[in-house]
Amino acid sequence: MCSSDLSFDESNSVVLSVNMGKKAPKGGDCPIDAEGFLANQKAKQQSGKDPMDYTHREYIIPWSFGCAWGGLANVGCANDGDGPQPGACFAWINEDYPTTRAHEFGHNIGLDHGGRWGQEYGDDSSIMGASASWRGFTAPSRFFMGWLTDAAKKTYSSAGLVSLRSLHLNPSTDTSGDYSALAFNCAQCEAESAGLTGGEIIVSFRTPNGYDRDLDGSFQNKVSVHLQPEGYGSWWQGITELLAVLGAGARHDALQVLAPLGLAVGLAYRNLAQLEVAHVDR
Ligand SMILES: [Zn+2]
Repeated sequence: MCSSDLSFDESNSVVLSVNMGKKAPKGGDCPIDAEGFLANQKAKQQSGKDPMDYTHREYIIPWSFGCAWGGLANVGCANDGDGPQPGACFAWINEDYPTTRAHEFGHNIGLDHGGRWGQEYGDDSSIMGASASWRGFTAPSRFFMGWLTDAAKKTYSSAGLVSLRSLHLNPSTDTSGDYSALAFNCAQCEAESAGLTGGEIIVSFRTPNGYDRDLDGSFQNKVSVHLQPEGYGSWWQGITELLAVLGAGARHDALQVLAPLGLAVGLAYRNLAQLEVAHVDR
């Protein structure tokens, strides 16, 4: 995987169609453990490849299984950079949205849900939300995974202008000198979806490019203001909160988000991605 948009080494991946030798079970009791065990055996017999030799195993299942969810995966079983961990991760896919596959894979690599307005899945700008439209991972997720490093982030220290590159751009090849995110530490900010207070505000700029090319129009060419709550571990991100989406001149909304810090973030009109940080009298 690389430091900007996620890519996957297809030479180390394999897609197998497994003949289970019987009809799919019906009855709605979601027999994924028994059927998964059998599928692994059959796959090995029929292809010579043992699914348990692979770090990530993804199973596309029939609706007749009666599973009550769209997808199911274990979380943080193989974070990016941990190297091969045979058999560590599973993901069960019970929907035909490509975004469900990306979402469950996100869980495998340690990501939790993208929340908004107190709803755990409410962030439609996050692949870890519930929307079925295609989009990339959010800035907090990219930092958590190490795809973006601290060098790509300007942590607020004093008022001034900060220029952001589009989130899809790779900092190591973008020579603009811009940042991928502007960050604030905010002990008072509330992550409603996680039920937590305090964390890091991460401001990023989203354009319809790369995996964000089909990003919902309400997020395009605007900055997203996320809160990454404190208290997450090295293998588990915790639920993020989308606090605001700001277009040019949206100073009023920004004021509300950053009021606990006594700061405002406004977008200059000349350049959509240029942020003006100013102190605010309260
Ligand atoms: Zn999920």
